[in-house]
Amino acid sequence: MKYLDEFSNPELAQRLLDRIRTATSRRWAIMEVCGGQTHSIIRHGIDQLLPDQIEMIHGPGCPVCVTPLEVIDKALEIAAQPGVIFCSFGDMLRVPGSAKDLFRVKSEGGDVRVVYSPLDALNLAKENPDREVVFFGIGFETTAPANAMTVYQAKRLGIRNFSLLVSHVLVPPAIAAIMESPTCRVQGFLAAGHVCTVMGTDEYPPLAEQYKVPMVVTGFEPLDILEGIRRTVLQLESGRHELENAYPRAVSAAGNPAAKAMLQDVFEVTDRAWRGIGVIPRSGWRLSDRYREFDAEHRFAVGDLHTAESAICRSGEVLQGLIKPNECAAFGKQCTPRNPLGATMVSSEGACAAYYLYRRLDLPAEVAHA
Ligand code: SF4
Repeated sequence: MKYLDEFSNPELAQRLLDRIRTATSRRWAIMEVCGGQTHSIIRHGIDQLLPDQIEMIHGPGCPVCVTPLEVIDKALEIAAQPGVIFCSFGDMLRVPGSAKDLFRVKSEGGDVRVVYSPLDALNLAKENPDREVVFFGIGFETTAPANAMTVYQAKRLGIRNFSLLVSHVLVPPAIAAIMESPTCRVQGFLAAGHVCTVMGTDEYPPLAEQYKVPMVVTGFEPLDILEGIRRTVLQLESGRHELENAYPRAVSAAGNPAAKAMLQDVFEVTDRAWRGIGVIPRSGWRLSDRYREFDAEHRFAVGDLHTAESAICRSGEVLQGLIKPNECAAFGKQCTPRNPLGATMVSSEGACAAYYLYRRLDLPAEVAHA
């Protein structure tokens, strides 16, 4: 398949690995921000093929994983209300809230439905004018344009029984928060290509300059990731810290102007809590005043919920790259994809799920022998 097969070519991958090995003279820690890239790295064993000096640190770029527990609990409360049709992408249904998940709400009689687009939820609102239809709008800059477009359409068409439960998060403030952390070990970043496809790359050079850290925009296929790592290593070895675009077939500096205009119209920047990490200033979007009537939190007046995280789940440390998933004592024992204790084991982009799926069940040697 074009743009997939040729970016998985084993001979070219070996050539890139050789060039990375030749370029590497000392230990480097590189974070891939995006959960999709984490899955690609683990699935293809890229981290195991790299020279021992290069450590890949898995970042917080899994949208399901960082959606705060309080928002999950609000979703559960709204979904349980009579007359509500609660719509979500499928991976949110098994994310544990304080006491249950959306599947449990559905089994208890709640009208919870999996949709493939927020526009499907808007159609449900049109077809069910006597019901309140809520879409669970989470994710990074990638999913936000479709959610913004749906709210825009709801307003334009006068569909008042539709609302959005919003928990959008933004990558650049998260990178800043990671670099500001006293425990930060990250020396270079692979930036997420799909985020930059929407937003462009303008936000990244100031971060690279401020934190003296190389950033390379990459895609998701093995050669994309290896090329991103190669360029990051070359910058690290030569003491440079620049933004490079290694994904030009999808990413331009300007991004997608139509999507950005829609985002600017519908959303405004706000402080946002990240599950397992805490509040990061100006790291999310909420509906702007012009669209506030479509905000499910206002419509359903859910607030001041008491939330309780699993006492043994260490997903916050996983999301910050402080531990690998198989360093969590519950990994593969109390916590599996069938019985997840944390969102990082549920989501298709979660690091714990990637380690479980691709059988990284053993502790890293340095931890096992400590
Ligand atoms: S393995 Fe499970 S309990 Fe441990 S950090 Fe991951 S999600 Fe949490």
